[in-house]
Amino acid sequence: MKESIINKCVAGLVESLYPRRCPACDGLTDKMGELICDKCRNAFSAVRSPFCFMCGKEIGEETEEYCRDCRRNPKPFVRNYALFNYDETARASVMRFKNGGRREYAGYYAGELLRRFGGEINKDNFDIIIPVPVTPAKKRDRGYNQAAILAKEICRATGIPVREDILIKTGDTVQQKELGRESRRRNLRGVFRSTMKLNRGIRILLVDDVYTTGSTLSACALALMRAGASRPRSATVFVGMRE
Ligand SMILES: [Zn+2]
Ligand SMILES: [Zn+2]
Repeated sequence: MKESIINKCVAGLVESLYPRRCPACDGLTDKMGELICDKCRNAFSAVRSPFCFMCGKEIGEETEEYCRDCRRNPKPFVRNYALFNYDETARASVMRFKNGGRREYAGYYAGELLRRFGGEINKDNFDIIIPVPVTPAKKRDRGYNQAAILAKEICRATGIPVREDILIKTGDTVQQKELGRESRRRNLRGVFRSTMKLNRGIRILLVDDVYTTGSTLSACALALMRAGASRPRSATVFVGMRE
């Protein structure tokens, strides 16, 4: 591992000295260094086969390669590695991770993501990890960008460097959940931008906590492609459940 990579990953180490909260029930974990309590080991619902080879959502039809949404609206990213279904437990967990200061959940999220997709991610030979950015104002409010914390944990385990300086979010958007699909897309157009020209050959892994409609990840992928990169891949801890 190169020295520069080690430095970038060091931020996550400090947190492991403190007792952690369980990402499922938010109680203190049983043992020091434990990332989840014993009774919660199966609290999150893992995405099962068959799943969509584009967005990672579970699908009903064994014979289909992509879900209905991805067949109708193909995504600009190649594939999303998605770990858990975004059910009630997941929603509550993400809320605390994002807005409640529970950064330590990232250790469990990233560890499980790599336990499931580490082989694929290794084979993909990524050059860099790019977390889905938030606006500077949002980062000031929350104190951190949860996707970046997650990305750093993945970096710590894989050695793939995190770059937070490439993709930036410039404008704020109307609350996405209040909008329909077409307006979501319009709402996000021009909001993400690359700060530099990118090499076509660069292999990028985009990282975010949740995939719902895919509009945010799509907008990020398009911004990177406008800067010259080819289609990136992505990884999210949670993915919306099939309709
Ligand atoms: Zn628990
Ligand atoms: Zn899909």
